Amino acid sequence: MADMRSVLKCVHCGTCRAYCPVFEVLGWESTNARGRVLIYQGILEGLQIDDSVIKTITTCTTCGLCEEICPAGAAPPSIVENARKYLAEKGLQTDVHKELCDIAIEKGNPLDEEKSRLHWLEEPDLPERAEYVYFVGCMNSYRYPEVAKKTFELLKPYGVSLLRDEVCCGSPLERTGSDASKLIEHNIKQIREMGAHTIITGCAGCYASFRKYYPDDLKILHVAEFLIERVDSLDIKKQDIIVSYHDPCHLGRDGGVYEAPRDLIRKATTLVEMASHHETSHCCGGGGGVRRGYPELSLKIAEKRINEMPDEAELLVTSCPLCRSNLEQVCKKRVIDLVELL
Ligand code: SF4
Ligand code: SF4
Repeated sequence: MADMRSVLKCVHCGTCRAYCPVFEVLGWESTNARGRVLIYQGILEGLQIDDSVIKTITTCTTCGLCEEICPAGAAPPSIVENARKYLAEKGLQTDVHKELCDIAIEKGNPLDEEKSRLHWLEEPDLPERAEYVYFVGCMNSYRYPEVAKKTFELLKPYGVSLLRDEVCCGSPLERTGSDASKLIEHNIKQIREMGAHTIITGCAGCYASFRKYYPDDLKILHVAEFLIERVDSLDIKKQDIIVSYHDPCHLGRDGGVYEAPRDLIRKATTLVEMASHHETSHCCGGGGGVRRGYPELSLKIAEKRINEMPDEAELLVTSCPLCRSNLEQVCKKRVIDLVELL
Protein backbone atom coordinates (compact mmCIF):
# COMPACT_ATOMS: atom_id res chain seq x y z
CA MET A 1 0.00 0.00 0.00
CA ALA A 2 1.38 3.43 -0.95
CA ASP A 3 2.42 5.39 2.06
CA MET A 4 1.25 8.87 2.92
CA ARG A 5 4.43 10.43 1.50
CA SER A 6 3.45 9.67 -2.09
CA VAL A 7 -0.04 11.03 -1.43
CA LEU A 8 1.29 14.23 0.14
CA LYS A 9 3.37 15.00 -2.96
CA CYS A 10 0.13 16.31 -4.46
CA VAL A 11 -0.16 19.97 -3.48
CA HIS A 12 -3.73 20.21 -4.83
CA CYS A 13 -2.83 22.83 -7.44
CA GLY A 14 -5.43 21.45 -9.85
CA THR A 15 -3.21 21.59 -12.95
CA CYS A 16 -4.23 18.02 -13.77
CA ARG A 17 -7.92 18.99 -13.98
CA ALA A 18 -7.29 20.44 -17.42
CA TYR A 19 -5.70 17.22 -18.69
CA CYS A 20 -7.47 14.18 -17.22
CA PRO A 21 -9.49 12.52 -20.03
CA VAL A 22 -11.88 10.91 -17.55
CA PHE A 23 -12.61 14.20 -15.81
CA GLU A 24 -13.22 15.77 -19.21
CA VAL A 25 -16.06 13.29 -19.76
CA LEU A 26 -17.46 12.78 -16.24
CA GLY A 27 -16.78 16.23 -14.80
CA TRP A 28 -16.65 15.13 -11.16
CA GLU A 29 -13.74 16.36 -9.04
CA SER A 30 -13.51 12.84 -7.62
CA THR A 31 -12.63 11.55 -11.10
CA ASN A 32 -9.55 13.64 -11.80
CA ALA A 33 -6.07 12.99 -10.45
CA ARG A 34 -6.36 15.46 -7.58
CA GLY A 35 -9.69 13.99 -6.50
CA ARG A 36 -8.39 10.44 -6.70
CA VAL A 37 -5.35 11.28 -4.59
CA LEU A 38 -7.52 13.02 -1.99
CA ILE A 39 -9.90 10.07 -1.85
CA TYR A 40 -6.98 7.69 -1.40
CA GLN A 41 -5.67 9.89 1.39
CA GLY A 42 -9.13 9.56 2.93
CA ILE A 43 -8.94 5.76 2.63
CA LEU A 44 -5.57 5.78 4.42
CA GLU A 45 -7.16 7.89 7.16
CA GLY A 46 -10.13 5.55 7.56
CA LEU A 47 -12.71 6.88 5.09
CA GLN A 48 -15.61 4.47 4.74
CA ILE A 49 -15.42 2.82 1.33
CA ASP A 50 -18.70 3.05 -0.55
CA ASP A 51 -19.61 2.75 -4.26
CA SER A 52 -18.56 6.33 -5.01
CA VAL A 53 -15.09 5.68 -3.58
CA ILE A 54 -14.79 2.51 -5.65
CA LYS A 55 -15.84 4.44 -8.76
CA THR A 56 -13.19 7.08 -8.08
CA ILE A 57 -10.50 4.44 -7.87
CA THR A 58 -11.65 2.29 -10.80
CA THR A 59 -12.37 4.94 -13.48
CA CYS A 60 -8.72 5.95 -14.02
CA THR A 61 -7.26 4.70 -17.30
CA THR A 62 -3.75 4.96 -15.76
CA CYS A 63 -2.83 7.01 -18.83
CA GLY A 64 -0.18 8.91 -16.89
CA LEU A 65 -0.89 12.33 -18.40
CA CYS A 66 -1.43 13.81 -14.92
CA GLU A 67 1.95 12.48 -13.81
CA GLU A 68 3.59 13.90 -16.93
CA ILE A 69 2.30 17.44 -16.34
CA CYS A 70 2.23 17.49 -12.51
CA PRO A 71 4.47 20.36 -11.33
CA ALA A 72 4.88 18.72 -7.91
CA GLY A 73 6.11 15.34 -9.13
CA ALA A 74 3.08 13.39 -7.90
CA ALA A 75 2.36 9.98 -9.47
CA PRO A 76 -1.43 9.52 -9.38
CA PRO A 77 -1.50 6.34 -11.54
CA SER A 78 0.71 4.48 -9.05
CA ILE A 79 -1.46 5.76 -6.21
CA VAL A 80 -4.57 4.52 -8.06
CA GLU A 81 -3.01 1.10 -8.66
CA ASN A 82 -2.07 0.82 -5.00
CA ALA A 83 -5.61 1.81 -4.04
CA ARG A 84 -6.95 -0.91 -6.33
CA LYS A 85 -4.73 -3.52 -4.64
CA TYR A 86 -5.99 -2.29 -1.29
CA LEU A 87 -9.62 -2.60 -2.40
CA ALA A 88 -8.98 -6.09 -3.78
CA GLU A 89 -7.35 -7.19 -0.53
CA LYS A 90 -10.44 -5.96 1.33
CA GLY A 91 -12.70 -7.92 -1.06
CA LEU A 92 -14.01 -4.68 -2.57
CA GLN A 93 -12.92 -5.19 -6.16
CA THR A 94 -15.70 -4.60 -8.71
CA ASP A 95 -17.45 -7.74 -9.99
CA VAL A 96 -16.25 -7.00 -13.53
CA HIS A 97 -12.60 -6.81 -12.52
CA LYS A 98 -12.88 -9.87 -10.28
CA GLU A 99 -14.39 -11.83 -13.17
CA LEU A 100 -11.66 -10.59 -15.52
CA CYS A 101 -9.07 -11.96 -13.12
CA ASP A 102 -10.81 -15.32 -12.65
CA ILE A 103 -11.17 -15.84 -16.41
CA ALA A 104 -7.54 -14.88 -17.10
CA ILE A 105 -6.23 -17.31 -14.47
CA GLU A 106 -8.48 -20.14 -15.68
CA LYS A 107 -8.14 -19.65 -19.45
CA GLY A 108 -4.74 -17.94 -19.68
CA ASN A 109 -6.41 -14.89 -21.22
CA PRO A 110 -9.05 -12.39 -20.03
CA LEU A 111 -11.02 -12.67 -23.29
CA ASP A 112 -12.59 -16.01 -22.33
CA GLU A 113 -11.02 -17.69 -25.37
CA GLU A 114 -10.59 -21.46 -25.35
CA LYS A 115 -8.58 -22.03 -28.49
CA SER A 116 -4.80 -22.18 -28.75
CA ARG A 117 -3.06 -18.80 -28.75
CA LEU A 118 -0.96 -19.98 -31.68
CA HIS A 119 -3.95 -20.90 -33.87
CA TRP A 120 -2.64 -18.45 -36.50
CA LEU A 121 0.75 -20.17 -36.76
CA GLU A 122 1.05 -22.26 -39.93
CA GLU A 123 4.22 -24.12 -38.97
CA PRO A 124 4.03 -24.86 -35.24
CA ASP A 125 7.56 -26.31 -35.13
CA LEU A 126 9.36 -24.05 -32.70
CA PRO A 127 13.01 -24.36 -31.62
CA GLU A 128 13.76 -25.47 -28.04
CA ARG A 129 15.99 -22.46 -27.50
CA ALA A 130 16.06 -18.88 -28.79
CA GLU A 131 17.65 -15.62 -27.68
CA TYR A 132 14.68 -13.54 -28.78
CA VAL A 133 11.02 -14.21 -28.01
CA TYR A 134 8.05 -12.51 -29.65
CA PHE A 135 5.43 -12.23 -26.91
CA VAL A 136 2.17 -12.01 -28.87
CA GLY A 137 -0.26 -10.93 -26.12
CA CYS A 138 -3.95 -11.79 -25.72
CA MET A 139 -5.33 -9.10 -28.03
CA ASN A 140 -3.18 -9.87 -31.05
CA SER A 141 -3.49 -13.65 -30.46
CA TYR A 142 -7.27 -13.60 -30.47
CA ARG A 143 -8.56 -10.31 -31.88
CA TYR A 144 -5.92 -9.49 -34.49
CA PRO A 145 -4.29 -12.81 -35.45
CA GLU A 146 -3.37 -11.31 -38.86
CA VAL A 147 -1.19 -8.80 -36.98
CA ALA A 148 0.39 -11.61 -34.94
CA LYS A 149 1.11 -13.50 -38.16
CA LYS A 150 2.55 -10.49 -39.97
CA THR A 151 4.67 -9.53 -36.96
CA PHE A 152 6.11 -13.02 -36.65
CA GLU A 153 6.86 -13.09 -40.39
CA LEU A 154 8.84 -9.87 -39.94
CA LEU A 155 10.68 -11.10 -36.83
CA LYS A 156 11.38 -14.75 -37.65
CA PRO A 157 14.25 -14.11 -40.11
CA TYR A 158 16.18 -12.55 -37.19
CA GLY A 159 16.00 -15.73 -35.08
CA VAL A 160 12.97 -14.68 -33.04
CA SER A 161 10.80 -17.48 -31.66
CA LEU A 162 7.59 -17.83 -29.65
CA LEU A 163 6.65 -19.29 -26.28
CA ARG A 164 4.94 -22.66 -26.75
CA ASP A 165 2.44 -21.96 -24.00
CA GLU A 166 2.25 -18.18 -23.63
CA VAL A 167 -0.40 -16.91 -21.22
CA CYS A 168 -1.62 -13.36 -20.47
CA CYS A 169 1.28 -11.09 -19.42
CA GLY A 170 -0.68 -10.14 -16.30
CA SER A 171 -1.26 -6.50 -17.14
CA PRO A 172 -5.08 -6.44 -17.01
CA LEU A 173 -4.96 -8.12 -13.59
CA GLU A 174 -2.24 -6.03 -12.01
CA ARG A 175 -3.75 -2.78 -13.34
CA THR A 176 -7.10 -3.62 -11.77
CA GLY A 177 -5.81 -4.69 -8.36
CA SER A 178 -5.54 -8.47 -8.84
CA ASP A 179 -2.51 -10.68 -8.37
CA ALA A 180 -1.09 -11.94 -11.68
CA SER A 181 1.90 -13.80 -10.21
CA LYS A 182 0.69 -17.24 -11.42
CA LEU A 183 0.52 -16.03 -15.03
CA ILE A 184 3.79 -14.14 -14.78
CA GLU A 185 5.64 -17.14 -13.32
CA HIS A 186 4.25 -19.39 -16.06
CA ASN A 187 5.69 -17.09 -18.74
CA ILE A 188 9.00 -16.58 -16.94
CA LYS A 189 9.55 -20.35 -16.60
CA GLN A 190 9.29 -20.81 -20.37
CA ILE A 191 11.45 -17.77 -21.14
CA ARG A 192 14.17 -19.21 -18.87
CA GLU A 193 13.89 -22.67 -20.41
CA MET A 194 14.36 -21.13 -23.85
CA GLY A 195 17.40 -19.17 -22.69
CA ALA A 196 15.96 -15.94 -24.11
CA HIS A 197 17.42 -12.59 -23.09
CA THR A 198 15.06 -10.30 -25.03
CA ILE A 199 11.27 -10.13 -25.20
CA ILE A 200 9.71 -8.35 -28.15
CA THR A 201 6.07 -7.36 -28.11
CA GLY A 202 3.67 -5.39 -30.28
CA CYS A 203 1.32 -4.52 -27.41
CA ALA A 204 1.80 -1.48 -25.19
CA GLY A 205 0.11 -3.21 -22.26
CA CYS A 206 2.44 -6.23 -22.49
CA TYR A 207 5.41 -3.91 -22.96
CA ALA A 208 4.68 -1.99 -19.74
CA SER A 209 3.83 -5.19 -17.89
CA PHE A 210 7.15 -6.86 -18.80
CA ARG A 211 9.05 -3.76 -17.71
CA LYS A 212 7.21 -3.56 -14.42
CA TYR A 213 6.50 -7.11 -13.27
CA TYR A 214 9.15 -9.32 -14.92
CA PRO A 215 12.81 -9.85 -13.99
CA ASP A 216 15.11 -6.88 -14.63
CA ASP A 217 17.66 -8.93 -16.58
CA LEU A 218 15.21 -9.40 -19.45
CA LYS A 219 15.49 -6.79 -22.19
CA ILE A 220 12.08 -5.59 -23.33
CA LEU A 221 11.54 -4.14 -26.78
CA HIS A 222 8.52 -3.05 -28.73
CA VAL A 223 8.36 -4.55 -32.23
CA ALA A 224 8.99 -1.05 -33.64
CA GLU A 225 12.22 -0.71 -31.63
CA PHE A 226 13.48 -4.09 -32.83
CA LEU A 227 12.61 -3.45 -36.49
CA ILE A 228 13.91 0.10 -36.74
CA GLU A 229 17.36 -1.21 -35.78
CA ARG A 230 17.16 -3.55 -38.79
CA VAL A 231 15.34 -1.22 -41.16
CA ASP A 232 17.99 -1.45 -43.88
CA SER A 233 17.29 -5.14 -44.29
CA LEU A 234 13.52 -4.65 -44.48
CA ASP A 235 11.98 -4.11 -47.87
CA ILE A 236 9.70 -1.16 -47.02
CA LYS A 237 8.04 0.54 -49.96
CA LYS A 238 6.84 4.11 -49.50
CA GLN A 239 3.13 4.40 -50.20
CA ASP A 240 1.35 7.52 -51.36
CA ILE A 241 -0.88 7.87 -48.30
CA ILE A 242 -1.11 10.26 -45.37
CA VAL A 243 -1.54 8.72 -41.95
CA SER A 244 -1.63 9.86 -38.36
CA TYR A 245 -0.25 8.05 -35.31
CA HIS A 246 -1.79 7.44 -31.89
CA ASP A 247 0.79 7.12 -29.09
CA PRO A 248 -0.28 4.33 -26.69
CA CYS A 249 0.10 5.72 -23.14
CA HIS A 250 1.84 2.60 -21.86
CA LEU A 251 4.37 2.67 -24.69
CA GLY A 252 4.94 6.43 -24.90
CA ARG A 253 4.73 8.04 -21.48
CA ASP A 254 5.39 4.75 -19.68
CA GLY A 255 8.22 3.47 -21.86
CA GLY A 256 9.49 6.58 -23.65
CA VAL A 257 9.01 4.92 -27.05
CA TYR A 258 7.94 7.69 -29.41
CA GLU A 259 10.33 7.78 -32.35
CA ALA A 260 10.76 4.12 -33.35
CA PRO A 261 7.13 3.75 -34.50
CA ARG A 262 7.22 7.16 -36.20
CA ASP A 263 10.48 6.37 -38.01
CA LEU A 264 8.97 3.16 -39.40
CA ILE A 265 5.74 4.92 -40.37
CA ARG A 266 7.69 7.66 -42.20
CA LYS A 267 9.55 5.00 -44.18
CA ALA A 268 6.21 3.67 -45.43
CA THR A 269 3.92 6.72 -45.61
CA THR A 270 3.61 10.43 -44.86
CA LEU A 271 2.91 11.14 -41.20
CA VAL A 272 0.86 14.04 -39.84
CA GLU A 273 0.56 14.36 -36.07
CA MET A 274 -2.66 14.31 -34.08
CA ALA A 275 -3.54 17.45 -32.10
CA SER A 276 -1.86 15.98 -29.00
CA HIS A 277 1.11 13.70 -29.43
CA HIS A 278 4.33 12.44 -27.81
CA GLU A 279 4.48 13.17 -24.04
CA THR A 280 1.12 14.95 -23.87
CA SER A 281 -0.78 12.60 -26.14
CA HIS A 282 -4.35 11.89 -25.08
CA CYS A 283 -5.48 8.40 -24.07
CA CYS A 284 -7.62 6.04 -26.21
CA GLY A 285 -9.81 5.41 -23.16
CA GLY A 286 -9.23 1.67 -23.07
CA GLY A 287 -6.57 1.18 -20.40
CA GLY A 288 -6.58 0.53 -16.66
CA GLY A 289 -9.61 -1.77 -16.83
CA VAL A 290 -11.87 1.15 -17.88
CA ARG A 291 -12.90 -0.43 -21.15
CA ARG A 292 -14.11 -3.56 -19.35
CA GLY A 293 -15.56 -1.75 -16.35
CA TYR A 294 -17.00 1.39 -17.96
CA PRO A 295 -17.46 0.82 -21.70
CA GLU A 296 -19.49 4.00 -22.31
CA LEU A 297 -16.88 6.18 -20.64
CA SER A 298 -14.17 4.38 -22.55
CA LEU A 299 -15.83 5.09 -25.91
CA LYS A 300 -16.47 8.75 -25.08
CA ILE A 301 -12.76 9.18 -24.38
CA ALA A 302 -12.00 7.38 -27.66
CA GLU A 303 -14.31 9.78 -29.55
CA LYS A 304 -12.44 12.76 -28.15
CA ARG A 305 -9.17 11.20 -29.19
CA ILE A 306 -10.42 10.52 -32.72
CA ASN A 307 -11.51 14.16 -33.01
CA GLU A 308 -7.83 15.04 -32.72
CA MET A 309 -7.05 13.32 -36.00
CA PRO A 310 -6.11 15.75 -38.77
CA ASP A 311 -8.59 15.84 -41.69
CA GLU A 312 -5.93 15.01 -44.25
CA ALA A 313 -5.01 11.73 -42.52
CA GLU A 314 -6.50 8.83 -44.47
CA LEU A 315 -6.03 6.30 -41.70
CA LEU A 316 -4.88 6.03 -38.14
CA VAL A 317 -1.90 3.89 -37.16
CA THR A 318 -1.14 2.68 -33.67
CA SER A 319 1.21 0.22 -32.03
CA CYS A 320 -1.11 -1.37 -29.46
CA PRO A 321 -4.04 -3.70 -30.17
CA LEU A 322 -6.05 -2.46 -27.18
CA CYS A 323 -5.82 1.16 -28.38
CA ARG A 324 -6.69 0.02 -31.87
CA SER A 325 -9.70 -1.92 -30.74
CA ASN A 326 -11.05 0.98 -28.69
CA LEU A 327 -10.39 3.63 -31.34
CA GLU A 328 -11.74 1.68 -34.30
CA GLN A 329 -15.14 1.45 -32.65
CA VAL A 330 -15.60 5.20 -33.05
CA CYS A 331 -13.33 6.11 -35.98
CA LYS A 332 -14.88 6.52 -39.43
CA LYS A 333 -11.49 5.94 -41.04
CA ARG A 334 -9.47 2.71 -40.80
CA VAL A 335 -7.34 2.10 -37.73
CA ILE A 336 -4.42 -0.27 -38.27
CA ASP A 337 -1.37 -1.65 -36.53
CA LEU A 338 1.91 -0.25 -37.74
CA VAL A 339 3.21 -3.66 -38.90
CA GLU A 340 0.42 -3.65 -41.49
CA LEU A 341 2.26 -0.81 -43.24
CA LEU A 342 5.44 -2.84 -43.63
S1 SF4 B 1 -1.65 15.61 -8.95
FE1 SF4 B 1 -0.11 17.21 -9.40
S2 SF4 B 1 -1.14 18.52 -10.91
FE2 SF4 B 1 -2.77 17.33 -9.89
S3 SF4 B 1 -3.44 18.61 -8.18
FE3 SF4 B 1 -1.85 17.23 -7.37
S4 SF4 B 1 0.03 18.46 -7.52
FE4 SF4 B 1 -1.46 19.45 -8.87
S1 SF4 C 1 -3.77 8.64 -15.09
FE1 SF4 C 1 -4.99 9.63 -16.72
S2 SF4 C 1 -7.12 9.01 -16.26
FE2 SF4 C 1 -5.91 8.61 -14.39
S3 SF4 C 1 -6.13 10.49 -13.14
FE3 SF4 C 1 -4.25 10.72 -14.38
S4 SF4 C 1 -4.92 11.84 -16.24
FE4 SF4 C 1 -6.77 11.00 -15.24
